[in-house]
Amino acid sequence: MPNKIIIAIDGYSSCGKSTIAKALAKYAGYTYVDTGAMYRAIGLYTLRNGLTAPADIIAALPKIQIGFILTDGAQHVTLNGEDVESQIRTLEAGNRASEISQIKEVRAFLVAQQQKMGDQKGIVMDGRDIGTVVFPKAELKLFLTASPEVRAQRRFDELVEKGEKPNFDDVLKDVNERDYRDTHRAESPLRQAEDAIVVDNSHMTREEQMQVIYGLFDQKISKL
Ligand code: C5P
Repeated sequence: MPNKIIIAIDGYSSCGKSTIAKALAKYAGYTYVDTGAMYRAIGLYTLRNGLTAPADIIAALPKIQIGFILTDGAQHVTLNGEDVESQIRTLEAGNRASEISQIKEVRAFLVAQQQKMGDQKGIVMDGRDIGTVVFPKAELKLFLTASPEVRAQRRFDELVEKGEKPNFDDVLKDVNERDYRDTHRAESPLRQAEDAIVVDNSHMTREEQMQVIYGLFDQKISKL
């Protein structure tokens, strides 16, 4: 068995990070961790409990347990033991996740858990700060990007598929606002690690993109 590595995937919202990370984890035989789901689960907790002040959110952290379970072969996030996978995928939960992710203590709380998950390596983790903060020594770092319009269209299609009735301009505005918040926050802003490989998938099919990414992984592993 060759040495296992840590794969860090960062990038803007709705650029297909989780689909790519999941496919790569399957290809490599590694564990996949969606860190956005962890921020969303905390966001959902604060929505449900009417918490808005950072001090109240920080005080609630010890009461929040986040986990992952496999349901019908798909990874679902749990909040204090409850499967909240569908509840965290709304625009509201995404926006709240983006807000609470600006709180230093929330990030420290989740980063510690994420680092523990990588103890044994053999992990593909996606998020905003994986290659820069969570695993700065990850052997393979990818930074995914696509134009805001392409990403808004993808998110729009996803929401329609879920039965929501989104307005395209609202979704595009939301993508731009979230990009701004993610790249301008004081704590661990989204940025490309110096040693990350950039993949712009605006004009790539999923298959083309996966061939590139599997190739990068194979190359890395063959050099170990
Ligand atoms: O990736 P996803 O859209 O599910 O993430 C939701 C929000 O959580 C992002 O907009 C971002 O603000 C935050 N996040 C973060 N750091 C991560 C993952 C997500 O700040 N590692």
